[in-house]
Amino acid sequence: MDKILIELILTNQCNKRCEYCDLDFQNTVFSNENILNLDNFIKNNPAEYTINFFWWEPLLQFEKLQKVVKTLWNKIKKFTIGTNGVMLNQEYLEYFKNNNIFIYLSVDNISCWKDLNLELISKFAEIIQVNFINDPNFLFNSLSTFEKVLDFWFQNIAFMPVFSTKKWEKSQLWELLKIYQTIKNISNNIQLNTYGYFNWVAIEKQFILDTDGNFYQDLDSLLWLQKQYSQLNPSLKQEINTQTKLLNISELNISLELLLKKYNIEEILKLVFEIPKQSWHFMDYKIIDKILENGTQKR
Ligand code: SF4
Repeated sequence: MDKILIELILTNQCNKRCEYCDLDFQNTVFSNENILNLDNFIKNNPAEYTINFFWWEPLLQFEKLQKVVKTLWNKIKKFTIGTNGVMLNQEYLEYFKNNNIFIYLSVDNISCWKDLNLELISKFAEIIQVNFINDPNFLFNSLSTFEKVLDFWFQNIAFMPVFSTKKWEKSQLWELLKIYQTIKNISNNIQLNTYGYFNWVAIEKQFILDTDGNFYQDLDSLLWLQKQYSQLNPSLKQEINTQTKLLNISELNISLELLLKKYNIEEILKLVFEIPKQSWHFMDYKIIDKILENGTQKR
């Protein structure tokens, strides 16, 4: 059976405005009609599906998230969510635990946990991976923030540098190397992963399902990520869009077979490698991957 990952975007809004974020914020939301369309699609196209509620802040649409889970419950192998955690409260955390939904919690070296209820969240550490995001301009905060993560007994942590929106100076790359080595040395009892750019974690066939019901082919959202950024010139954004946009969930003839037929991994890989070359930080990405190479699983 095919393994399919759907990155479902519930909303284009967020309750934060992080320095390294360059997303457009709008008030579009995944519709109830599209939940039914997705339900029909999955019913008619059996596969091993994972749904990840991802991009912007899915907890702003918590009721809709519950509706998706309730509607698709017995047809989906696994649900996961990526969140900034600001809205995580007892009710939400219990809901995720009771429904076996794994949480990817973003924590950066800028706000240093100030906006999170760590006491509470850490009680649910077994269903959480902390995605520890490192902005090059705030590396002086990285070690103290990481130690705080350890103090609260989180066991799953992923070390992530900021790509795309920030330029890494040479001295900052050196600093990143030192920080990562220190973190590895103090992380004996935890599962420490890393997210590089070119060396990424093995995954299923991946589709992004946007709020308007359009399916896009992608790989760890790398192309989706790039096309959000204002530094990328419009013709490259257009190229990514044209090459990745497939079908809309409301189309009558939509099927998994058709989506898979259109899923073109060579095209995706070509763009994943070419876009940073044509735009900006290709060498930075290479160096960062080298720094992280022992911790990153290769495809
Ligand atoms: S939490 Fe995520 S989506 Fe929201 S502003 Fe920060 S980086 Fe952007």
